Amino acid sequence: MPSSPSSCEKPRVAVSACLGFRACRYDGAILDCPTLSSLAGRVEFVPVCPEEGIGLGTPRPPIRIVRNGGGERLIQPSTGRDLGGRIEDFAEGFLAREGALDGFVVKSRSPSCALRDTKIHSSLHDETQVDRGEGWFARRVRTLRPHLPRIEETDLEIPPALEDFLIEVGLLSWLRRLRPGDGKKGIAAHRAEAQPYLARRNPRGNSELERLRKEHRTLGDEAFLDLYRTVFLRVFTEVRKEPPRS
Ligand code: SF4
Repeated sequence: MPSSPSSCEKPRVAVSACLGFRACRYDGAILDCPTLSSLAGRVEFVPVCPEEGIGLGTPRPPIRIVRNGGGERLIQPSTGRDLGGRIEDFAEGFLAREGALDGFVVKSRSPSCALRDTKIHSSLHDETQVDRGEGWFARRVRTLRPHLPRIEETDLEIPPALEDFLIEVGLLSWLRRLRPGDGKKGIAAHRAEAQPYLARRNPRGNSELERLRKEHRTLGDEAFLDLYRTVFLRVFTEVRKEPPRS
């Protein structure tokens, strides 16, 4: 994982709290996730449970995404409550409160946290699954912070996926800590670290960053850092290929 030579601070990674941090799953369980635990020395975890966060309590009746009439809703079938708006508000508040985050590790299959494989139902009580998609909280986070790398806990077991995730959160963390006083040398060091990853994942964007310094030689350190940050985040965001829910 890349790290700024001048910084020993770890990337800040939000994580679904039921993945070993709190017994907050709907049934009161806490899940064992040894690979995640093994990363504790390399990243700073920020646990979050959106369902507890909106006051549902633990244990609680499960919730589900229902698609009918052309739209989707996040519903608790036992009470009929529509919780989508509250989860979205919670996501906005969480991101505003936490500020600097460099990535997310989320629980697969959850109607709140999953990236791609939560069940989508056709009705409140029918078990028929009409599709699979993204959890409600995860979707709001993606909309508000599209550059943030995200990974499900099951993908942590795939070495190339884990390696890429650690590269991504390390690059974002470093970018966040760059200061105008680091000068063009500091930016060049970040650029050099990012180059192999971007050359592999976004060659066109990588070339654009390569040209940046030549094309903007006369900019001062602060203006160049602003420009580098903007272009880097756009290029970096283009790498995110997670499919939307529908
Ligand atoms: S999957 Fe998300 S909402 Fe469900 S218990 Fe875990 S952290 Fe909470």
